[in-house]
Amino acid sequence: MRVPLMTIQTGSALPAEADVVVIGAGVVGTFTAYYLARRGVRVALLEKGAVGAEQSSRNWGWCRQQNRDARELPLATRSLALWDSLAAEIGEDPGFSRCGLLYLSNDDAEIAGWARWGTFARGVGVTTFMLDGEEASRRGAATGKRWKGGVFSPTDGIADTRRAVPVAALGVMKYGGTVHQGCAARGLEVSAGRVSGVVTEAGTIRTRTVVMAGGAWASSFCNQLGVRFPQSSVRSSILAVAPGAQGLPDALHTSQVSVTRRGDGGYNLAISGGARVDPTPQQIRFIRQFGPMLAKRWRNIAPGGLQAWKAGHETLARWRLDEPTPMEACRVLDPVPDARQIALTHRRAMDLLPALRTVPVAATWAGYIDSTPDGVPAIGEIEDIPGFILAAGFSGHGFGIGPGAGHLIADIVTGAEPLVDPRPYHPRRFAASAWGKVAEF
Ligand SMILES: Cc1cc2nc3c(=O)[nH]c(=O)nc-3n(C[C@H](O)[C@H](O)[C@H](O)COP(=O)(O)OP(=O)(O)OC[C@H]3O[C@@H](n4cnc5c(N)ncnc54)[C@H](O)[C@@H]3O)c2cc1C
Repeated sequence: MRVPLMTIQTGSALPAEADVVVIGAGVVGTFTAYYLARRGVRVALLEKGAVGAEQSSRNWGWCRQQNRDARELPLATRSLALWDSLAAEIGEDPGFSRCGLLYLSNDDAEIAGWARWGTFARGVGVTTFMLDGEEASRRGAATGKRWKGGVFSPTDGIADTRRAVPVAALGVMKYGGTVHQGCAARGLEVSAGRVSGVVTEAGTIRTRTVVMAGGAWASSFCNQLGVRFPQSSVRSSILAVAPGAQGLPDALHTSQVSVTRRGDGGYNLAISGGARVDPTPQQIRFIRQFGPMLAKRWRNIAPGGLQAWKAGHETLARWRLDEPTPMEACRVLDPVPDARQIALTHRRAMDLLPALRTVPVAATWAGYIDSTPDGVPAIGEIEDIPGFILAAGFSGHGFGIGPGAGHLIADIVTGAEPLVDPRPYHPRRFAASAWGKVAEF
């Protein structure tokens, strides 16, 4: 079954020249193009498939500060403020609301971890409430269970994954940028040591600045340029149920299953952290860097099959710029969901929330979540190739922080005062140590 996604008409001719070319119309690339266009920068946004069709429409839609790594928290906070103003700026609704996120648990260690994070977060101005057993059970009444404790983060929210990125792309065009679907960027031209163009399947665009926001495809693209970007993906599966279940929280996390209301009144169901690792040549290449992350998460992940190898996003092959590339062979990375995970998710969700027993399954899908070794995005200019800015590896958190990331990248490109300190995100940190430090929260 297909992931639900709004389609938009783009179709303008490829420009011969642009101030900036952004590769990849996921949440990161599209918001980068949006904030550049708003500053009057001539920007072209290239997408090999359809706007938003990979990770950015396959996720839960959570836009959260809650439990964020300290390095990512400022971007999460600023992103929420940007989400707030998008509908008015663009004139179309991305389906964002600050509904608050509810976390429930009966595990003392988990509750203690949330409490530690809360102490840190309140110190930097984030509103988050620890819930005692009585309050957690009251807020979680739809479960019909007693809970030991929980968290409620009232200023966090969710956005509509079917609409958010297409709406942002409409915003790009509204403010003068161009968007090109079905147009893969095959590689870069470099002259006198600096980016001078982007070679696409439809021709070359002259430009001095390129943003690579290709999600799970970023490392294989970098590899063509001799840039080593440690990146790896896992396959995560989701189940959507039809509208009709009443009285459920908008967004609820438990260790067993998480539940998120969609814009149409149905719910998305998933198991946090549950994923398959489908081996690829790239994973083998970067296995040492990802060792600590795998060691930390092994309880939730299971070995998968060969579908990622076949899809080609983590190939180590070198390709030519005058022939079709793996990006043209796979317009939309659309992995097969894990049937066992889906069945387990559904069972757990119906156990947790009896109201879900009354509604049928509407769709199932999966997405490859691309990560860096430390679980924090890689954003910054690659020093060896001036004009080439990498923005990938959003590690399962990129949807919520997409607006802030796009704004920050636009700041870097235009030399404006950065929205947040960009230094913690720079990809050079992966060169310094072969072993990434995994985020603790
Ligand atoms: C199941 C699941 C649940 C998640 N839940 C959440 C959540 O609740 N909250 C949250 O914040 N995040 C969540 N995430 C993570 C989030 O979805 C990602 O971090 C985010 O969408 C990444 O955005 P992106 O723009 O970097 O990549 P993508 O959305 O993958 O976009 C990259 C785009 O680049 C295009 N592309 C690649 N190479 C080229 C090329 N050479 N030329 C042209 N186009 C190219 C691709 O076709 C693709 O459309 C989840 C992810 C999944 C899969």
